[in-house]
Amino acid sequence: MHSAQAMMFHHFYDATHPPGQGAISADTLSAIIEYIGVERILPAAEWLWRARQHTLAPHHVCLSFDDGLRCQYDIALPVLQHYGLTAFWFVYSSVLDGAIERLEWYRYFRVTQFTAIDDFYVAFKQQLLGLPNSAQLLQQLKYFSAASYLSEAPFYSTSDREFRYIRDEILGPERYFAVMDQWLEQVPCAMQPIADKLWLSVAQVQQLHSQGHVIGLHSHTHPTRMARLARRVQQQEYVMNFERLRAVLHTAPQVMSHPCNSYNSDTLDILRELSIQLGFCANPYTSQTSRYEYPREDHANTVRQLYRAYFKMRTLIDKSRDIPCIDDRQKINFRSVTQGENRDSPLEEPHREKNTAKCKKRMLKWNGPI
Ligand SMILES: [Zn+2]
Repeated sequence: MHSAQAMMFHHFYDATHPPGQGAISADTLSAIIEYIGVERILPAAEWLWRARQHTLAPHHVCLSFDDGLRCQYDIALPVLQHYGLTAFWFVYSSVLDGAIERLEWYRYFRVTQFTAIDDFYVAFKQQLLGLPNSAQLLQQLKYFSAASYLSEAPFYSTSDREFRYIRDEILGPERYFAVMDQWLEQVPCAMQPIADKLWLSVAQVQQLHSQGHVIGLHSHTHPTRMARLARRVQQQEYVMNFERLRAVLHTAPQVMSHPCNSYNSDTLDILRELSIQLGFCANPYTSQTSRYEYPREDHANTVRQLYRAYFKMRTLIDKSRDIPCIDDRQKINFRSVTQGENRDSPLEEPHREKNTAKCKKRMLKWNGPI
């Protein structure tokens, strides 16, 4: 259909928002934007307009932020403002009314209460062992294949994949929530989620909209397996999301992205009925057959390319004995770089220093597909 590219972002970290599990810093977002080339990144509204007119070109790129997260507003938005960019923001709406969506709360628990994500996975399996049918449940792990499960997300480690297999394929949402809720009951009160730390407020969504960002649907409660839900339930998810966002924005949302990349023909029918103009998947390999299946590249894949380019650039700089534009004091953890940022420890990254002009000149520009 076209080969313009959309970039997908989730979590960001700084001194206030915790690192871990794929979170990137403002500096990494800047580096990604410069690596792609600011001039290639269209304002979200223009990307939407061009998509509808079928005038997107292969070099066009757009940025998108899923899940309506407060860390995106606090950390990514100032970077976008610095470059004069606007993006798509896909917001699940239950949290706008004060609901706590467990997936985000549990993630907050994982990244703040465990020094390494693998420690969490070990502790999670311990929790499972406490279940009456634990042996039976864990036996189903024999069907798990790290090579093929979630193969569209190469940045997941084997234990990331195994955890998601247990969560989504063996337990399913209800049993998973029961295990986690029971576990969290034993955690000190300080762990109770604070909605304004995790999600955007209504006023912030309105502010983004007034600044030219394009706000879109992402379901009401963010089910992880939308495609497994009855049509009636899917309809409820998207109609509630649509109505809530319409009330907040004072205009009908026109775009959406599929939570956890899960949808079926019922989902696409519902989006058509809501007159949605454009939808995004969460992987870059989708064989796009409708206007609701635009592919997106996860930032983790671009970060890997960026670091490959960075090391290539460092090699060239070292050879020429030129002044490096990246702070030598920052030691790069190559292993975590090559495996994406989906690690437990914050990724140490190159910082652009005072000599920004030199840096910009030297920044390797990426011309291929993302
Ligand atoms: Zn999502």
